[in-house]
Amino acid sequence: MAEQLKGKAVATAMKEDLVQRVEGMKAKGITPKLGIVRVGARPDDLFYEGGIKKTAEGIGLDYQIFEYPEDVTQADFEKAIQDVGADKAINGILMFSPLPKHLDEKKIRTFIPVEKDVDCMTIGSAGKVFADDQTGFPPCTPTACMDILKFYDVPLKGKKVAVVGRSLVVGKPVAMLLMRENATVTICHSRTENLPAVCAEADIVVAAIGRAKMITAEYVKAGQIVIDVGINADPDRPGKYCGDVDFASVEPIVDKITPVPGGVGSVTTMVLCKHTLKACEMQNA
Ligand code: NAP
Repeated sequence: MAEQLKGKAVATAMKEDLVQRVEGMKAKGITPKLGIVRVGARPDDLFYEGGIKKTAEGIGLDYQIFEYPEDVTQADFEKAIQDVGADKAINGILMFSPLPKHLDEKKIRTFIPVEKDVDCMTIGSAGKVFADDQTGFPPCTPTACMDILKFYDVPLKGKKVAVVGRSLVVGKPVAMLLMRENATVTICHSRTENLPAVCAEADIVVAAIGRAKMITAEYVKAGQIVIDVGINADPDRPGKYCGDVDFASVEPIVDKITPVPGGVGSVTTMVLCKHTLKACEMQNA
């Protein structure tokens, strides 16, 4: 039976550190603050927002919701984002994505100041991730993967890692962060040949695909560590969700595995708060 790398223990340890640092800032008269920008009221966004609010309240971090109607115009929204960006009380900005189709999201992202871009929405932040510039903020989910690996003392130096998925949100940045720790990374995608064999060759598999239970027993081998980033509707259990890994067939084989739910997803909101606090500390250094 594999050891389950549960996210809660990671988030709890991180919280203790953050609470102390937030108190340190408050002692200087500064309250770190996250600006949450939302257009419309998609249930997924509201669910994530609820989790962020709860986590922020738990560590004493302030937040403000900037909510805009579904039919906000490009011009109005551009102005709104620029205002949030210029607001000195706001240290970090999270904008829910994707935006409605009539908005030019690529352009709107350029109005988020890089120093407040706590979830890596701008090309400037992505550039910092790829350039190993530690003043930048990688996206929260890849950071959560790294925090889990670190918390559970998983050695990365010289290890072979297969990352399945090459999105800008997860696959590519997590590969860069793994390389920063001297792992040898193979980035896989929908055109990768012999994907099961490539994964089975690795010491660590990171699944960031968006396909329920795709990574089955044939992709893994004994001794491996599996990080499941996926969040999908569970085809076998209506109303529940599952990862990109077929936990039932993979868990008996591998050494360590993150569960879904209760793995990567449960660390992500804490990482968002960590990034906001770091942004506040840097802005007030
Ligand atoms: P995405 O933008 O849709 O990217 C999916 C990636 O998987 C693409 O690179 C795609 O390859 C690859 N892929 C798709 N089908 C494949 C196949 N059959 N074989 C090999 N590779 C395949 O998704 P994402 O935003 O990166 O998200 C990935 C997963 O993570 C989703 O389940 C999402 O819900 C989840 N997620 C979780 C969190 C969290 O906090 N836990 C946060 C964000 C996302 P191509 O590039 O060739 O198309």
